[in-house]
Amino acid sequence: MSRYTGAVCKLCRREGKKLFLKGERCYTGKCSVDRRTYAPGQHGQSRKKTSEYGLQLRAKQQARRFYGIQEGQFHKYFLMAERKAGMTGENLLRICESRLDNVVYLLGWASSRAEGRQLVQHGHYKVNGRKVDIPSYLLKPGDVVSVKERSLDSDKFKAVIESNEARPVPQWLERDNGANAGKVINLPERDQIEAPVEEHLIVEFYSK
Ligand code: SF4
Repeated sequence: MSRYTGAVCKLCRREGKKLFLKGERCYTGKCSVDRRTYAPGQHGQSRKKTSEYGLQLRAKQQARRFYGIQEGQFHKYFLMAERKAGMTGENLLRICESRLDNVVYLLGWASSRAEGRQLVQHGHYKVNGRKVDIPSYLLKPGDVVSVKERSLDSDKFKAVIESNEARPVPQWLERDNGANAGKVINLPERDQIEAPVEEHLIVEFYSK
């Protein structure tokens, strides 16, 4: 299935909540969810009763859209999460959080997860000293992510880093601004994950 390339604010309006897909703009009065509280499209303003299945489907879609993950890959993550010890829903979110594109965003080296994906694909980052250009690369505790030295020669790339490095880094990551490097201390607990989703509904969706 191809990647969604339409207006991303419509995705938030469809889900009725902020998914923070546009970086800085999401925190300003220009956010479409704040300005128009109804779903997009001709029938967006009509009230609909949502079934249990509908709620589960929406929770799954919200998580996929929040992290920018395709259906096939997301389902694969669910199967991985099921095989791990602990709560499947939390395991699933932890896997999504450990993706390289998400981590570079959280380290303040991209203004959104989508930009993180693009910058990873363009080869701007290294993991444990080796270039990695796969956005879905899953990081483990102890892994060190760094910015490629040559990338800092690009004014455009430097501007992205400078405009985002003031953003606080979650406790499960550690950023060394001087070295332009970040370390995964451990994988996050649920209360350290900002995804606005009810993960138990996703588990119910896939468990049918
Ligand atoms: Fe658009 Fe961001 Fe608001 Fe979502 S949260 S509607 S992406 S501005």
